[in-house]
Amino acid sequence: MILMNDFKAEDTALREAMLSAVQRVLDSGWYVLGKELEKFENQWAKACGTRYGVGVGNGLDAIEIALRVLDIGPGDEVITTPMTAFATVLAILRAGATPVLADIERDTALLSLESVERCFSSKTKALLLVHLYGQVRNMSTWAQFCTDNNIALIEDCAQAHLAQWQGTVAGAFGEIGAYSFYPTKNLGAIGDAGMVVTSDSVLAEKATRLRNYGQSERYHHPELGMNSRLDEIQAALLSERLKWLPEFTQRRQAIAAIYQAELVNPQIQLLASPEENQAHVYHLFVIQCEHREALQTHLRKSCVQSLMHYPIPIHHQKPCLEIKRDRQGLSNSEYHATTCLSIPCHPQMSDDDIGKVVETVNSFSLN
Ligand SMILES: *Cc1c(COP(=O)(O)O)cnc(C)c1O
Repeated sequence: MILMNDFKAEDTALREAMLSAVQRVLDSGWYVLGKELEKFENQWAKACGTRYGVGVGNGLDAIEIALRVLDIGPGDEVITTPMTAFATVLAILRAGATPVLADIERDTALLSLESVERCFSSKTKALLLVHLYGQVRNMSTWAQFCTDNNIALIEDCAQAHLAQWQGTVAGAFGEIGAYSFYPTKNLGAIGDAGMVVTSDSVLAEKATRLRNYGQSERYHHPELGMNSRLDEIQAALLSERLKWLPEFTQRRQAIAAIYQAELVNPQIQLLASPEENQAHVYHLFVIQCEHREALQTHLRKSCVQSLMHYPIPIHHQKPCLEIKRDRQGLSNSEYHATTCLSIPCHPQMSDDDIGKVVETVNSFSLN
C-alpha cells in the first residue's frame, strides 16, 4: 500500500538521532519548560523569521492563545474559512469569539477576498488566514486588507512549515502565527506539540504566561491561563527532525512537480500551481474529481491510499450549523468538499511509488 504518510520508512540516521535526543532529556532529569524547549523555540522562530517562538501543547491551543493575547474574545468577530481543520474554528469558539465564515476560491481552495469583504463588520477584530495544503498566496493583499480595516492578521500555519511568499515565511506576515507539530504535519513531533510565533515582545510574553496557567512569576497568577506546554522530549525530537525538514520539503515539492506535469486524466482537475514568488510546501497534494468515490475505490484497488481534506465544511458540522457566514453562501467550499481528494505526497515515497500513483490516477475511467 502506498500510504499518505510512512514514518516507519524514515531514514535510520534520523531514528538514531531521535533516540539519542530522548536519552539526552532522560539524562538531564528536566522534563518540562527547560533548555530543549528554549533551543527549539529559538530555532523555529529563526526558521520563520520572527523574533519569538512560544512552544505550546498543540495547534488548537496555539490558535486560541494567538487570539487571546490579542484580546480577542466575547463580542468580537473573526473571519476565517469553512475549508479547514475543525481546530481552526474550534479555537475561535474556545476564545469566546464569534467565527464568521467566508467562501474560498475554486482554483486554490484559499479564502476569496470578495467574500471576506462581505463578511466584514464593525465587530470584526481579526482575519484568521489558513495556509491550506501548504500554500501562502496574495499576502500583500491580505496585509493591506487588515491594515485598511484596522484588524489583526493571524496565520494558521499548521499546514505551511517553511512555506514562503516573496521570501517571507508563513507566520511572519501577521501579528502572530500558530503552528501545529502534530505527527502528520510537515514538521511533526512524536505526539502533540504546537507553537505561536511573533515579533512582538508583548504578545510573546502574554503567550508565555497563558500556556502556563496565566502565571507571571512563581505563585503569581494575574490572569486565567491554561496548561499547554511543549515538553522537553518533544522539543528535543523536533530539533532533530527540523534538521531534515528542508530535504523533506524539497522531496514533497519534487513529487508535486511530477504530479502537476503528469496527471492528465480529464476526469480530474488540479489546483492552481504555485506562483513564481511562492514556495508551496505541499503538506497535501489535492486533486478534484466529480466522481470521487469511484476514484477512491479505483485507487484502493491499486493499493494507493487517499483521504479527503475536507469532506464536510465547518458550517455542516453539528455545533456550527447556525454559524455566521457570507450572506451569498459558501458554494465554492461546498463544491470543494464534495470533490477534493488528497493523494500520497510524502518524503518517504520512492520514485516507483510516484510513478505508480500517476499511472493509477491516469488510468481511472468511468465505466
Ligand atoms: C492540524 C491543524 C490544526 C490543529 O492542530 P493540532 O495540533 O492537531 O491541534 C489547526 N489548523 C489546521 C489547518 C490544521 O491542519
